[in-house]
Amino acid sequence: MTRIVYVNGEYLPEDQAKISVFDRGFLFADGVYEVTSVLDGQLIDFEGHSKRLERSLGELDMVSPVTMEDLLGIHRELVHRNDVTEGMIYLQITRGADADRDFVFPDPETVPSSIVLFTQSKNLADSPAAKVGMKVISIEDIRWGRRDIKTVQLLYPSIGKMMAKKAGKDDAWMVEDGFVTEGTSNNAYIVKDGKIITRHLGNEILHGITRATVLRFAREAQMEVEERSFTIDEAKTADEAFITSASTFVMPVVEIDGVALGDGTPGPVASRLREIYLDESRKVAV
Ligand code: PMP
Repeated sequence: MTRIVYVNGEYLPEDQAKISVFDRGFLFADGVYEVTSVLDGQLIDFEGHSKRLERSLGELDMVSPVTMEDLLGIHRELVHRNDVTEGMIYLQITRGADADRDFVFPDPETVPSSIVLFTQSKNLADSPAAKVGMKVISIEDIRWGRRDIKTVQLLYPSIGKMMAKKAGKDDAWMVEDGFVTEGTSNNAYIVKDGKIITRHLGNEILHGITRATVLRFAREAQMEVEERSFTIDEAKTADEAFITSASTFVMPVVEIDGVALGDGTPGPVASRLREIYLDESRKVAV
């Protein structure tokens, strides 16, 4: 089955979908994105993702080519046309294709933003990795200072992932001034004496949609949550650790820089939060 993608107002087979070589997403990484997961053919945390998209666009003075209401319809149409029961929908909006390559932003009145959405079918809920947990390394965080905006500038996170793979591990946690910021494509958490600790919000990390939902569920389940910075050394002495993201939900971390956490298997807090997140999110999926 050929995948149907959405490009600038049209639903097209993927091999017929085209974007200009002058698109600023391609030339300048001048674009933002969102990833929304699909379970049982329904969208998880859609409202959070569309609100963050609006914020990212606003922070970069970009104009959305579609209304936020239209976006839900486009997501659903792609799920339907591609028969996705489980997986992700990737959305990207860029500042469009100017007549030439120019550092100056084009006038949004004459150069419309580009929008692309596509689906990726994948088993997410029944993940083998969730049963064994992930091993991470720490690397220096050398990204720009506005990590709260979900831009498509993902070269360094991609390099970080490669550094982890080369070391025989699964992912990297980024560290700035000794403190963990986040994973290459996820938010980072540790658990000590039953307390869930994760970095406070700010420009230094992406405000994860899964993070917000998981922390709400944790508090509703009477679990103690502390939003503060923690060092990589503190992380290595934690009882357990985990990450969150739209495509991994809650994923246990069992090793940091070669140091096993607890008994080196997924911890009870991470496992319970994963279960709660999956159960509760399915109930309110759209
Ligand atoms: N931090 C970074 C750097 C990310 O790339 C992501 C996922 N895109 C996250 C955190 C998690 O965000 P979310 O839960 O909204 O997927």
